[in-house]
Amino acid sequence: MNPRFKRAVIKVGSNVIAGNDDGLDTAVMEGIVNQIADLHRSGMDVILVSSGAVASGKSTVRCDRKLDSVSARQLYSSVGQARLINRYYELFDRHGIVCGQVLTTKESLSTRDHYLNQMNCMTVMLENGVIPVVNENDTISVTELMFTDNDELSGMVASMMNAECLVILSNVDGIYNGDPRSSGSEVIAEIRPGDNISSYIGSEKSAFGRGGMLTKYRIASKVADEGIEVIIANGKTPDILEAVLGGLPANGIRCSRFLPSGKPISHVKKWIAHSEGFAKGRININEGAMAALTGNRASSLLPVGVVSVEGVFEKGDIVRIVSPDGRQIGVGKASMSSAKASETAGKKGGRPLIHYDYLYIE
Ligand code: GLU
Repeated sequence: MNPRFKRAVIKVGSNVIAGNDDGLDTAVMEGIVNQIADLHRSGMDVILVSSGAVASGKSTVRCDRKLDSVSARQLYSSVGQARLINRYYELFDRHGIVCGQVLTTKESLSTRDHYLNQMNCMTVMLENGVIPVVNENDTISVTELMFTDNDELSGMVASMMNAECLVILSNVDGIYNGDPRSSGSEVIAEIRPGDNISSYIGSEKSAFGRGGMLTKYRIASKVADEGIEVIIANGKTPDILEAVLGGLPANGIRCSRFLPSGKPISHVKKWIAHSEGFAKGRININEGAMAALTGNRASSLLPVGVVSVEGVFEKGDIVRIVSPDGRQIGVGKASMSSAKASETAGKKGGRPLIHYDYLYIE
């Protein structure tokens, strides 16, 4: 096979690999591993982000008393993750390929140091021919410290690892232009930068995992905006990875492909783009600042453009930027504390509150 990319992140959803016996469908997992092994052999760096820990643990542990949702997730994932990684290890081993486990939390990516540490870990694995198998550490990430789902995690990993492509494997063929169950609906094959297709998407969640098509769409658009191609495809379709990543003509195979934006953004900006969940404060800006930040020229956020500052943050923390009509337009890294920012708000002169290099406009 002749893959179109040098590095890709492949995300496998719980719905793709959930099965009857121990909660995992070995045949489907084997098919996916065989395809990844082919890609690996043809020289491509592959990072696998796999869900399925909770689903697998649930069908393994019998619990007599009713557990609250946090304890249940902790219990099931502790057992299920062991099963999941064991299965992947065995399946890759048949090809003579070594895989390794990376368990992460949203917090592990919240500061630039932590982020670089995670990046270093996966880089050294790839350099040594080891396939990273990534999942959220569900035993310790609870409530607000949780990723929305593994779609969010995979977007972050693709961006962090400078992947050229992110493939999100789910149990549907892609994003439909109507109800997927009705015969007239078709998969939207290509989504270009700036296209808004959110009105086509229903809000149903998946049966096993936490995600749904709406988060997939949101993440896919954001990642494609950063210059990375994103493909949403059906993980149960045989040879799907070869069809979407290889040089094969995609004979009749359907999927949704998000074309990457032509102007890729810097590594620091990629980190900031995915840091929204860690924001400590909110900066309300005026019309002048709004025009400058959303215009064509590179502009920093100056104190004169700030109407008010909410929340308590320190220099270096991530803050949200909110327009005069109350919409979040971006995120950035504050170059001063909230106390200092409030003091200088509305004043002319002074250094920028957010420098352009640390600013991400959505
Ligand atoms: N990390 C969860 C698991 O392995 C899945 C989260 C999701 O559904 O995206 O079960």
